[in-house]
Amino acid sequence: MNESKKDVRKIQPLVMKQLQSVFQKNRVAHAYLFEGEKGTGKVAVMRAFVKLLLCEQPVENVSCETCRGCRRFESGNHPNFIQIEPDGQDIKKDQMLQLIFEMNKTGLEAGRKIYVLHRSDRLNTSAANTLLKFLEEPQGLITAILLTDKPYAVISTIRSRSQIISFAPIPYEERVKTLIGEGLTASMASTVSMLTNDLEDSFRMAKDEQFAQVRKTVLKLVEAAETNVHETMLILHEELLPLLKEKEQTEQALDLLLFAYRDLVTVKANSNTSYTYPDFLVFYQRRALHCTFEQLSHKIEAILKAKQQLHSNMNRTLLMEQLMLNMQGGFSFV
Ligand SMILES: [Zn+2]
Repeated sequence: MNESKKDVRKIQPLVMKQLQSVFQKNRVAHAYLFEGEKGTGKVAVMRAFVKLLLCEQPVENVSCETCRGCRRFESGNHPNFIQIEPDGQDIKKDQMLQLIFEMNKTGLEAGRKIYVLHRSDRLNTSAANTLLKFLEEPQGLITAILLTDKPYAVISTIRSRSQIISFAPIPYEERVKTLIGEGLTASMASTVSMLTNDLEDSFRMAKDEQFAQVRKTVLKLVEAAETNVHETMLILHEELLPLLKEKEQTEQALDLLLFAYRDLVTVKANSNTSYTYPDFLVFYQRRALHCTFEQLSHKIEAILKAKQQLHSNMNRTLLMEQLMLNMQGGFSFV
């Protein structure tokens, strides 16, 4: 996904407001720790904030996108911006020495220098000790942005010297809207947002041919299971199973199946929550008239049981066949 296109003010409105206000008041701290689950937009917000700090003519606390600073940042070669990732398992002391050397170098562009530590929970002790003093007393106009999905694993001395910025999970509706804004259909955006909280993962999933095919086939299977049970085994063997080469893919197909039945229950209960497959609504409405809650909950239980069996490494073909039978008859061979 193109980071710059994402409207971070909508994804994390409170955080963005807080950072813009700090910028406006000219009270940018030495060090920030951005903490929050994977998929909460930390990198997107970091990029927006860094660009704002490097922008030569910001308008109302938003980067202008056209000045030299903005263009250099976007092209990935702004000399005043350095990003560090773990080198192997850890962020190492040598990386910190190199970073401090770069930051202290004269002859860089005038203005603020910014460095970002990705996965800052991976700083090893000697790297953290090396960084610590620099973090407290940087020479000149320097800002550190530390990112982490695991705040509890960040070394406490580093944490206590940083200003903490917490990222709350992005609400489902907001994620769907963002993905639609990125060009996904409403139905695909709804489905992938149900499977993961992470916008980047959602987007990747939606663009994956294999995933689109599994989604389509699972819906075909649901339609057959509800209207023409004799076809279910055929669809299973000829269309769905060939797509499920890995255990993870089988698990995902089971989740997709589960969500279809959850949608059906939602429609039948006239409840007003979000659907995984809004494109299937007409079918659900028709079908909801002809099935009972008992039947639906029986099917949902069968799917949940199959998910458990998958984790105990049962043969996957057998597992899916058994599931189809269980969903139809309410009896079990296992
Ligand atoms: Zn600019």
